[in-house]
Amino acid sequence: MRATCWTGKRSVEVREVPDPTILNRRDAIVKITSTAICGSDLHLYNGFIPTMREGDVLGHEFMGEVVEVGPGVGNLAVGDRVVVPFPIACGVCGACERGMTSLCENSNPNAGIAEKLMGHSPAALFGYSHMLGGYPGGQAEYARVPFADFGALKVESDLPDEKVLFLSDIFPTGYMGAEMAEVGPGDVVAVWGAGPVGQFAIASCFLRGAERVIAIDRIDHRLRLAKETGAETLDYEQVSVPEALAEMTGGRGPDKCIDAVGMEAHHAVGALHAYDRTKQAVGLETERPHVLREAVTSCANGGVVSVIGVYGGFTDKFPMGSFMNRYLTMRAGQCHVHRYMPRLLEHVRNGDIDPSFVITHRLSLDDAPTGYRTFLDKADDCEKVVLSP
Ligand SMILES: [Zn+2]
Ligand SMILES: [Zn+2]
Repeated sequence: MRATCWTGKRSVEVREVPDPTILNRRDAIVKITSTAICGSDLHLYNGFIPTMREGDVLGHEFMGEVVEVGPGVGNLAVGDRVVVPFPIACGVCGACERGMTSLCENSNPNAGIAEKLMGHSPAALFGYSHMLGGYPGGQAEYARVPFADFGALKVESDLPDEKVLFLSDIFPTGYMGAEMAEVGPGDVVAVWGAGPVGQFAIASCFLRGAERVIAIDRIDHRLRLAKETGAETLDYEQVSVPEALAEMTGGRGPDKCIDAVGMEAHHAVGALHAYDRTKQAVGLETERPHVLREAVTSCANGGVVSVIGVYGGFTDKFPMGSFMNRYLTMRAGQCHVHRYMPRLLEHVRNGDIDPSFVITHRLSLDDAPTGYRTFLDKADDCEKVVLSP
């Protein structure tokens, strides 16, 4: 089959690789009909996530048709249409039983590597380094889906791929960002990053009754899209974000702050960005945590900071004094996709949201290298790339 392979820093190739086969009782093989490039794939593309190997198959947002099931998969049949969550979860361990499927204790065979870096291992993810399981991803013609009886969500045929594909990651991730921030009626929320996840965080804040959402980015087309969803916008290259946020909220700051940027934040002010960039480049820190610092110090007293942008390792100059003295709460996590999928599918069915609003580029799988480059450069007003095998 053809698959998008990581071939080194800033390099992906569509190659012929062996077809996946059933290895375990609870596996299914899915013939992929739609898949997408995620912002977090760009961290791999840029070489910031350790333990990638030449030839690894990328992709963790995909859906398709079941073509084979293992003997332990009783609830799926050949021909079923499924969306697959990006974390791989068994459904029966302690973490899964508590709904924390991105922390599944059974899916990561390389947990030891993750433990060295993080203390304990989270769940394995599709197509996201050997530290996180080494599972081939879904930017391919076929994928093996472990624990398919628990993971793969069946969807009926009346909703097109583009409306349900993002249940695999970015819609639930954005929603969990709003939920971790405890966004509710009357809240003023600031969202850093108006990429695809940021857009779904904004939309989810409104679904949960937020009064105002302020989107922060520097790319025009992203800010335009956020505005169409109902957000107010700030271009961080034009204004000082902390000052603007204070001014827009009577000096108090936003009640809730969501970091939808993560480890590769840009910063309009040269000195601090240069500090982070240099330290990251020589391996002295793994993140450029500018957004995280700004979200903490901008947040209203007693507010909540929610982190859904991906971080990989260690962060410098975290404003602990601001965080501690002002009774802030911070929550962070890879999304427990499984627990949000059914309820968000209902929102799609009801017409509360049409997730396809973020798609700007529809390419064939063979054009994945162009897709990565265009998405990285935000060229051609690129917001989200969908690939069809
Ligand atoms: Zn993703
Ligand atoms: Zn589990």
